[in-house]
Amino acid sequence: MADSVAPTHTTCPYCGVGCGLTVSTTAFQSLKMKGDEEHPANLGRLCSKGSNLIHTLSSDGRLLQPQIDGVVVPWEQAIHRVATEFSQIIAEHGPDAVALYVSGQLLTEDYYVANKLMKGFVGSANIDTNSRLCMSSAVVAHKRAFGEDSVPACYEDLEQAKLMVLMGSNTAWCHPVLFQRIKAAKRESGMKVVVIDPRRTATCEIADLHLALKPGTDVKLFNGLLSYLAAHQGLDAEYIEHFCQDFEPTLAAAQEDAPDPAAVADACQLEASDVAQFYQWFLETEQTVTCFSQGSNQSSQGSDKGNAIINCHLATGRIGKPGASPFSLTGQPNAMGGREVGGLANQLAGHMDFAPADVEKVQNFWRSPQIATKPGLKAVDLFREIEAGSVKAVWIMGTNPVVSLPDADQVQRALRKAQLVVVSDCIAATDTTAFAHVLLPAQGWGEKDGTVTNSERRISRQRRMVPPEGEARQDWEIIAQVAQAMGFGDYFSYQSSADVFREHAALSELNRDTNKQFDIAELATISDQEYDNFTPFQWPLQQGSGSARLYSDGKFSTESGKANFIPVTNRAPTNPVSTDWPLCLNTGRVRDHWHTMTRTALAPRLNAHKTETYVEINPTTAAEHNIYEGELVQVESRWGAMIAKANLTDAVDPKSVFVPMHWNDQWSRSGRVGALVNPAVDPFSGQPEAKYTPCKIAPWQPKWSALLISHSDLPLPDVKYAVKVRGDQFFRYELADQTDFPEPEPFVAALSLPTLDQAPMTYADSAGTNFRAAWFDGDRLVAVLFVQAGTSPQANADRGWLADMIVQEQPDPKQCRALLTTHSHAGFEDCGKIICACFGVGENTIRKAITENNLKNAADVGKAVRAGTNCGSCISEINEILEV
Ligand code: SF4
Repeated sequence: MADSVAPTHTTCPYCGVGCGLTVSTTAFQSLKMKGDEEHPANLGRLCSKGSNLIHTLSSDGRLLQPQIDGVVVPWEQAIHRVATEFSQIIAEHGPDAVALYVSGQLLTEDYYVANKLMKGFVGSANIDTNSRLCMSSAVVAHKRAFGEDSVPACYEDLEQAKLMVLMGSNTAWCHPVLFQRIKAAKRESGMKVVVIDPRRTATCEIADLHLALKPGTDVKLFNGLLSYLAAHQGLDAEYIEHFCQDFEPTLAAAQEDAPDPAAVADACQLEASDVAQFYQWFLETEQTVTCFSQGSNQSSQGSDKGNAIINCHLATGRIGKPGASPFSLTGQPNAMGGREVGGLANQLAGHMDFAPADVEKVQNFWRSPQIATKPGLKAVDLFREIEAGSVKAVWIMGTNPVVSLPDADQVQRALRKAQLVVVSDCIAATDTTAFAHVLLPAQGWGEKDGTVTNSERRISRQRRMVPPEGEARQDWEIIAQVAQAMGFGDYFSYQSSADVFREHAALSELNRDTNKQFDIAELATISDQEYDNFTPFQWPLQQGSGSARLYSDGKFSTESGKANFIPVTNRAPTNPVSTDWPLCLNTGRVRDHWHTMTRTALAPRLNAHKTETYVEINPTTAAEHNIYEGELVQVESRWGAMIAKANLTDAVDPKSVFVPMHWNDQWSRSGRVGALVNPAVDPFSGQPEAKYTPCKIAPWQPKWSALLISHSDLPLPDVKYAVKVRGDQFFRYELADQTDFPEPEPFVAALSLPTLDQAPMTYADSAGTNFRAAWFDGDRLVAVLFVQAGTSPQANADRGWLADMIVQEQPDPKQCRALLTTHSHAGFEDCGKIICACFGVGENTIRKAITENNLKNAADVGKAVRAGTNCGSCISEINEILEV
């Protein structure tokens, strides 16, 4: 069917790759989305999350109108309440008694206006962002080394490199399109790939060498590399002499910390030959790119890890050259844009700081009455101060700190205590909106208009493609309206996103009397039409052209123009493992979910890959604790506890466990790993230690468990372990508790199901340890429930078949008769756990194709059943299936 109107070019709202999308409307008025073949970030590719974006454009669960204390109110009233109470608190307690906590999901225009209001008009720098949890250590590393938070590389470098070092980055799942670009380049050029990660991840599929180092020893590994380069004539003395400073003390620190591969291997618990192999490859490969990401940043040594990497690149002159650079891969879609406008509490706008000269420049530009003159509270400290009472009001925008911050139960305590909690969000029910006094409906990504900056400094347009739901407004509009109600109307009179962008671009001109690189001032006067039409470019912008790389000429952003070597030494973690807390808890992403699942959980296919939260445990450790595959486990740290399903794997070492970061209270009771996470922070960046939490594990044995599959969305009951999974036209609930076996009728009522006497099919055993029921509407099965005593969480029920029965309008009567057995009648083929989210191909389908056609590799599987032929994110799992 032909498309009815010209397609809209926009940007994926998930990760920092910043893939372009082309969205068209068909003649049937439905939207069609695909990767934008002209966007330089992805050249038409998309990952499973991007491919399923269309399924998240639902009005289900949207926050549609402003609310005060749970009551719907007009916008004017909500704006008035926020402005008045903020103003009163500022008048009584000073500007630092209020705060904003914002998000890398915001567009640059939103970020700019929020930052201007707080720093320039409230007069406090108490605005921080969830990018603090993601990238702030890389920011510190860049600023210390280069004099500015600038990423020197571009994505083409990932293809031009001959050696790719992936440090603390599960690129295959977290930056999947970049992974595909690296993988394709490796196939063509024979590039070597080194993965540095304590865990064996999907990224190891392309690793020539996997260094599964001991958690927290990364600085030592790179200090050892610097020592090795010095000992083997691997330094670029001329580059160091002309373009850098402080090399000698840096080398001395490295040599003392990590003198040779043997010492490094011992400290990092690696094979000395593997360490030496990595060092030798680095030494002899001019075109080396070192990508580093959250595995490096989310650490109490995150800033030093970044500088340990950059030191090695400076020492070899490999900065900003084709295929040769350190490269920080940002987590969020607009973490970089936020940094450009000063979204972090320790930055001012336009890559400026709180140096008096910068403060004066920005104050003059904004004509601001009372600009902040010192950094504000960083995220973890901010929520501590809210609990302590010095910060009395907080406005949270587009983020879910009750799930994502470390020591997340502390965040709950803080929000309970705050005098005023304002939350702007597009989703009505999140773990954080539950604490809001004032709820402000924000537009979702498909409704907003503005810009984002990806990991390679590329600014792209995010364009509106659907009308806003309900009364939702753009975030910058909401902030500007509050600013106007606080009496700052003359300075916040923007009429459009383009107005905000022009001001942001104009501000960047203030950098022109320095060596700083961030400069998009040429766009300060673009017309609305030009703003609408602009194509992606990389800053700095000079005479209409962007810049692929920075610092190629050896001139850096520091006052002297020279790059700084930073002496660093490996430090022990702030809260190390101990006898009481013997295991190291690592956290991270899964392939198909994003952050706290408020968007990805809406797409049935994205829920099908990992349906419940889980804890990866080494089989040796599991045996020591009497834990078996698929059983429930309590994971506990000194900050909190959670329950997750055991996944036994040697991908983690016996002293570590891994839990994904995504599950929240809306989809999984007792599944918030943030409640456990170590709130220790990096002393320079304030970034929390999300990869290293001392913990312990134990079997969690329920007295009963239940499986419920329902056609309609039912509230998650108040049960200790309760998980909801959204499928395609069904909802699945996994329940378990340590309470006594439930009485059938009250239990059914608590689940919001019809009464048992309305169920034509029921079963209860005489011992009172097992009951089952199925409800129909005419011929259609609408819900089926199984409850049994004991510790097994309904492991054997045929979930795929049961879901299929719910989806059918007229299920096969033969299959219906088998319903309460939990197993299908012969003739039903369950596709199994979804492996390929792009085409919905399950594990059983893949296994059957392999067996029947004697398939030998992932490419053959792709040809047979399409799995792995779109984004390729599932290929490592297909390979695992092929190996068995
Ligand atoms: Fe979106 Fe995937 Fe591209 Fe990231 S890699 S921007 S999640 S499509």
